[in-house]
Amino acid sequence: MIARRLGKSVALIERGKHPRVVIGESSTPLTNLLLEELSDRYDLPSVRPLSKWGTWQREHPEVACGLKRGFTFYHHNLEKEKDVILSEGRDAAGVEGPASPLSDRTQQLLVAASPHDEISDTHWYRADFDHFLIREAQKLCVDYLDETALAAFTESDSEVLLEGTRHGQPLRIAAKFVVDASGPRGFLHRALGLSERELPGFPPTQALYSHFENVRRIDELQTAAGEPYPVDDAAVHHVFDGGWIWVLRFNNGITSAGVAATDEFAEKYSFGDAAGSWRRILERIPALEAQFASARAIRPFARIPRLAFRSAEIAGRRWALLPSAAGFVDPLLSTGFPLTLLGVSRLAEIFANDWGSPSLAPSLADYAAQTDADLLATSRLIAALYANMSNFPAFVSLSLLYFAAVSYSETARRLGKPQLASSFLLRDHPEFGPVSGGLLERAQKPLKEAESQALTDEILAAIEPVNVAGLGDPARRNWYPVDPDDLLRSASKLNATEAEVIALLQRCGFQLR
Ligand SMILES: Cc1cc2nc3c(=O)[nH]c(=O)nc-3n(C[C@H](O)[C@H](O)[C@H](O)COP(=O)(O)OP(=O)(O)OC[C@H]3O[C@@H](n4cnc5c(N)ncnc54)[C@H](O)[C@@H]3O)c2cc1C
Repeated sequence: MIARRLGKSVALIERGKHPRVVIGESSTPLTNLLLEELSDRYDLPSVRPLSKWGTWQREHPEVACGLKRGFTFYHHNLEKEKDVILSEGRDAAGVEGPASPLSDRTQQLLVAASPHDEISDTHWYRADFDHFLIREAQKLCVDYLDETALAAFTESDSEVLLEGTRHGQPLRIAAKFVVDASGPRGFLHRALGLSERELPGFPPTQALYSHFENVRRIDELQTAAGEPYPVDDAAVHHVFDGGWIWVLRFNNGITSAGVAATDEFAEKYSFGDAAGSWRRILERIPALEAQFASARAIRPFARIPRLAFRSAEIAGRRWALLPSAAGFVDPLLSTGFPLTLLGVSRLAEIFANDWGSPSLAPSLADYAAQTDADLLATSRLIAALYANMSNFPAFVSLSLLYFAAVSYSETARRLGKPQLASSFLLRDHPEFGPVSGGLLERAQKPLKEAESQALTDEILAAIEPVNVAGLGDPARRNWYPVDPDDLLRSASKLNATEAEVIALLQRCGFQLR
């Protein structure tokens, strides 16, 4: 759609047929801000309502989605939790064990992403969402060719040629440029025989997932007691040694759930027998077992035997991989969409500004370098989280590096000061970038208790210059609502006046005294 707005003629080639189900569903404040910015910059008013729950519900109720008020984490001990709960709080030796993470705040992290539903984030029910985008693209005269099997890509001095078949007929498309949006290990990666590179320090991981109906809400199992938002209306993460489970609820009765875990965990729970493996994991987590007691998978389980991916090359003379085709780390923290939209935004600027220049090579080399650097920064963060999934205090502290960076970035951009946060996870920020990088390097292995306490203190010092959300305040005890006073107190960190912050809060629907 952006390329059409820039005056190009566009063919959109799809192997399958919409509507179709794909994974990757949960959006974040940065995702939605980028969607808004792209809609405004490239005059795509039909897409803009999908950047917030309120406008989405009013303008496109036919496109299913879920309400995401925040990031909910529960920490579980799969070896003990079930035994302790069955024996009413005591283990076999009679020693008192942990309470259910649903009631024990030390085993929770709740980070609100929005103050109320109207401007809240969403989970995208991709069958509907992507189909909607396809129809909108067609309205802008994008040539949509579905059920197309591409077989070859050849490049000459003046163009590229894509060859394949559609409905049994040969198909040839000559183009000036190809953007590959076909996902990890996708079309160009294979057609050009590109190699894979390692994500340094990232463990080998895999995933299992499906869509379910009749999944009960957590707040039906546990009475809410002042949480910063309804805990189910969120991306719900259940974290344990070696992996984690996501639960994302849509407004059409369907819930997406799955598990991402190390190879070691996958072997222990026999991921090869997907449905059985899912059942065996849930049996170790009483809260999830209760939530899924009457649930039914409405699709066969899918398994991804290797989640992480990094392409050795990202762009050529007449082609570029979107970030989602160039690499992937893990669904944890929903980084896929913002990375992809940052890539869309960078490519759009290249098309808008450099198309007529003798060579796109310098801009595309920069695009490739930025895309790879974003991927590596994401990988370093998530590797540290994986290494410390059994040490929840360390996991929580490490995750504050993410929440501090993204909340600062979002606020800076919403204040019209994007130069304060020009890179993903603030990796290029002069102070925060190198310090957070160093801390994450140290946490690429499981931390002992004393190490993790020292690291926590250093993390709190590191986030201070960009902490605009009261993160790490011990009085909050791991529950972080959106509190306008945090932002007002942090105005100077954003080079903003109190009046600018008040105006921003009012735009976000806060009634200020
Ligand atoms: C388990 C899992 C969970 C995730 N969860 C999240 C999340 O919660 N939040 C988040 O932000 N990100 C998440 N991601 C990442 C997210 O899925 C991607 O960032 C996102 O889907 C990228 O969208 P896309 O349209 O570029 O690619 P995809 O969604 O991968 O779509 C690729 C499209 O290309 C088509 N295609 C493939 N090969 C060809 C071919 N040869 N020719 C023509 N067409 C082809 C496919 O049919 C498909 O329609 C997750 C990823 C995984 C693996």
